[in-house]
Amino acid sequence: MFWSKDVGGKSDCPECGARLESEHHTYVMAIREDGDIQPFVVGNDAGYFCAECPVVVLDYEAFTKFAIFGLGRKSHGQFTVLGLVDLSAIPEEKSGIPLGEDGNPIPLVQFANLQRHPAGDRSRARSRKNQKRSRQKRKRK
Ligand SMILES: [Zn+2]
Repeated sequence: MFWSKDVGGKSDCPECGARLESEHHTYVMAIREDGDIQPFVVGNDAGYFCAECPVVVLDYEAFTKFAIFGLGRKSHGQFTVLGLVDLSAIPEEKSGIPLGEDGNPIPLVQFANLQRHPAGDRSRARSRKNQKRSRQKRKRK
């Protein structure tokens, strides 16, 4: 996961140079407010996915606006995006239960570079592959 402000835009993949495409997804943000960290689930199309590799570039400006909206005030404080929600992983019979309620945990797909694995590069590569596979599964539906 990269921020658009760090990689100079959201049109080309910072790792392989292929074109990025905007997709609608649901994200879990973490916003720090007065020392408390608030989770905030938001659906938007501010994520730009590489067609060739598992890179996603997030529109920093757009997520800043969502962070401000999430806190309901003018400044956004500190925030990050933990990952995206795999809506296809939610069983149909649970679709009426709000996400995160008892019995319907949020199926969070963490961004690979936010995960901490002591094993290092090998496990990082594996989790990136898994992430790509779950995206493809969702597309087929
Ligand atoms: Zn790429």
